[in-house]
Amino acid sequence: MSGSTIVITDKRFLDHDPGDGHPESPARLEALLEDLARVPATDVAMEEARFATDAEIETVHPAAYREALAARGGHRARLDPDTVMSPGSWDAARLAAGAAVEAVRATMTGRARNAFAMVRPPGHHAEPDRAMGFCLLNNAAIAAEAARRAGAARVLIVDWDVHHGNGTQDIFAARDDVLYMSVHQYPFYPGTGAADEVGVGAGRGATVNCPLPGGQGDADYGAVFHDLFLPAARAFRPELVIVSAGFDAHARDPLANMRVSERGFAAMASVLAQLADETCGGKLALVLEGGYDLPALTASVRAALEVLAGRHEDFPGGPQAATLEAIGAARAALRAAGRAVPKS
Ligand SMILES: [Zn+2]
Repeated sequence: MSGSTIVITDKRFLDHDPGDGHPESPARLEALLEDLARVPATDVAMEEARFATDAEIETVHPAAYREALAARGGHRARLDPDTVMSPGSWDAARLAAGAAVEAVRATMTGRARNAFAMVRPPGHHAEPDRAMGFCLLNNAAIAAEAARRAGAARVLIVDWDVHHGNGTQDIFAARDDVLYMSVHQYPFYPGTGAADEVGVGAGRGATVNCPLPGGQGDADYGAVFHDLFLPAARAFRPELVIVSAGFDAHARDPLANMRVSERGFAAMASVLAQLADETCGGKLALVLEGGYDLPALTASVRAALEVLAGRHEDFPGGPQAATLEAIGAARAALRAAGRAVPKS
């Protein structure tokens, strides 16, 4: 399989059912699986997920939290106003974390050129000891810890979901071996992700937030990547790139107000694939987060998969003034933290 892209996904993700009318519904993954079955993606091998081990989960979540979720396995439980477990949820959550770990492993061992963990429930809002925002286990964080233990000295997590990944930020806030970068709508759920949240202690400067007002599109995301994320990432020299790949910044998404298109998501994947080629032999693993308009989700995931298989996509030009201002504020916050971002 070396040289190709691996998609790790599983029908058992459909058994996580937060209930009628919930946006994070099994229909999301059903749509993705049907689309890929109808027209298989080029140069992509599909694999089933495996359960994350207790030890893998406990690199991020305390044993007491894992045990509390496990005890609810097989039952229905409401964990917060948005986050519900159904009888199949605990298995799905452990499979989602396991898929993210295997996506990282596949790229690190050279079994695949890059990988996409097509999972649910999503993960980036999950705190070490708290489920929230549709998330039970923090899949990307568990994958980053697995990468560190497998020998990656520095891991970059780029979170392009339209919501800020409060859980991932918290987990790595005091660490300088994991650089967390997020572009998100702000002010918005979950309320975190201001430009001056740059990490704490030894991790000061290893958190990069680019909060944007609603209404920003492909050109704006292009400016964020080219003028902020890529220069910060190059200075960090990652040995692996993980993406919290949510597709809810899409113009058609019902939960948010951004205007990104399939092309924009492909361009984000494209510059990160290029960054991974430059810095770490192409080691890139995407982990699915949000994305709630089914046609937008399937089209955007397909566009990202085409990029993983080798297609290049560029951002259009012409960012809005509000985006340039936000980039300036993020750069100023990092400069004040003693981690000035080099000019692109
Ligand atoms: Zn989201």
